[in-house]
Amino acid sequence: MRSFRYFLPTTNLIFGKGTLKYIGVEAKKLGKKALLVTGKKSMEKLGFLKKAVESMEKEGLEVVHYGEVEPNPTVDIVNEGAEKSIDNRCDVIVGLGGGSAIDTAKNIAVVSGHSEGEKISIWEFAEVHDVPRQITSKTLPVIAITSTSGTGSHVSRFAVVTNQQKKQKIGILSPFICPKVSIVDVDILSYMSPSLTAQTGFDTMTHVMESFVSRLANPITDFYCLKAMELVFNYLPRAYSNGDDTEAREFMALADTYGGWALNTSRIVLPHALSHPISAFYPEIAHGVALAALTPEIMRFNIEKGNEETVSKYCQIAKAGGIKVNSFTKEEALKSVEVIEELLKKIKLNVTLKGLGVKKDKIEGMTESAFTAMKGPIEANPVPVIREDILNLYSRSM
Ligand code: NDP
Ligand code: MN
Repeated sequence: MRSFRYFLPTTNLIFGKGTLKYIGVEAKKLGKKALLVTGKKSMEKLGFLKKAVESMEKEGLEVVHYGEVEPNPTVDIVNEGAEKSIDNRCDVIVGLGGGSAIDTAKNIAVVSGHSEGEKISIWEFAEVHDVPRQITSKTLPVIAITSTSGTGSHVSRFAVVTNQQKKQKIGILSPFICPKVSIVDVDILSYMSPSLTAQTGFDTMTHVMESFVSRLANPITDFYCLKAMELVFNYLPRAYSNGDDTEAREFMALADTYGGWALNTSRIVLPHALSHPISAFYPEIAHGVALAALTPEIMRFNIEKGNEETVSKYCQIAKAGGIKVNSFTKEEALKSVEVIEELLKKIKLNVTLKGLGVKKDKIEGMTESAFTAMKGPIEANPVPVIREDILNLYSRSM
């Protein structure tokens, strides 16, 4: 066996129906004044914002609400939230919502913890600078309550943020932003619409497929990935067609969690590297939808150019999808693409970049953005890529 690294997260995970009620007791262990970070509508409309506030107030915490997060959150949204946290002297940051709210909470925790009276921006910490500002233990503690399944952000050491001026979407990376507590309450997840279920569920699928084929994959993350792939193949179509199928929701939430644990160490690879520039240029295209448009062509590319180990991994992906694989050859490995395309059809995500409104004249710019902002995932891809490959992959996904 090759030597490997594995990042063991220090998150206290609280999983199951009705667990939102524990937020007060848990937040009290970490601070006295909480900044509660949400999106603009869903959590308030569904009553979960009120429940979270009440639970924390019952335990004697003061709560300040920041409800300005938008999907694919920007540097400005983070910095504005940090200002609110600093002005109110908050000492714990709670993210309630999907990946966008949780990532914003993590990034606010970084900025508020390091500002020390000076106005700073989350972008200073981005690994696009020669010497990015270091993220230290000054980062405020984060609690995540996830409302999608999902990004894995509730158990990951990554937080995504978009710089709209520079057209770069990056992942801030630090063990200090890993949530101290993570609540996964199926009652919240059950409100996801079929399309949100599909796009977030496919995001999970890509996390585990990408971490599985990554150069940084190891036996521990492989174990999570294989199990999570099986779960997504089995339960995503069910959760998509019947949102009240609690069992399907629970298993998708588990797959999402395994995904976060896997990508913490093994990283995501090319589909994510190419999808982030799409969000940077087209913020209205949801993360999971961009991934759906890109994944099949990238799988074909990695299989065609992949070594024996990579080909065998794609064969195992096909097996996780219930396909019989006779030998570990490239031909058999291509069955993994078929089974993913079938899944995408079932959840109505068989989309193309052109169909999503991506214009050919943006391909150059998106390729530049990928090489600047997504170096880590590009390097973790099992097949080395040059600029030409990325241009081609975007074109073929049109
Ligand atoms: P978002 O958090 O962007 O939420 C998408 C939409 O769904 C929002 O309009 C939100 O409403 C609504 N919504 C969320 N939960 C529910 C619910 N339970 N019921 C009804 N509506 C709901 O979606 P994702 O979770 O997919 O997060 C995507 C972001 O996460 C992207 O920026 C992506 O890049 C990032 N990401 C982060 C990773 C990480 O490791 N940190 C990994 C992968 C992706 P409203 O806004 O009103 O609350
Ligand atoms: Mn993702």
